[in-house]
Amino acid sequence: MSVIHHEFYVITPWNLEGAIAASRQRVSSASWALCAAADTLKEIQRRGDSDDALTCMCLDCDFKFSEQHRPMAFGVIVPMFPETSNVMIAHGICGDCFERDDLEEQILATLREMFPRGNFRRVEQLQ
Ligand SMILES: [Zn+2]
Repeated sequence: MSVIHHEFYVITPWNLEGAIAASRQRVSSASWALCAAADTLKEIQRRGDSDDALTCMCLDCDFKFSEQHRPMAFGVIVPMFPETSNVMIAHGICGDCFERDDLEEQILATLREMFPRGNFRRVEQLQ
């Protein structure tokens, strides 16, 4: 079974401006990450308060996002090698989880469950 390498970024209110600036300078990973986050916000809006609402990225948290309850941050997953793709996935992280001391471990646990063949070693802040 081959290992698929991914990059993973966290977009927070504190690095959002930097990500936007990077995307303006045509840093493609920043542009893709912002597009993925925008798509997730659109999906949250589309699903509204339905039973099908998107939930927080942390596996042990069932916080449901809605227009009134938007994510505090986004985890963005980027397939890199051998599968390269412009298709990124952004997951919302709720405000309570964003404050957790073990957020990075929680994110890595989620990624390993979502991508059993994935190789995730650390969580990087999007620059
Ligand atoms: Zn949460």
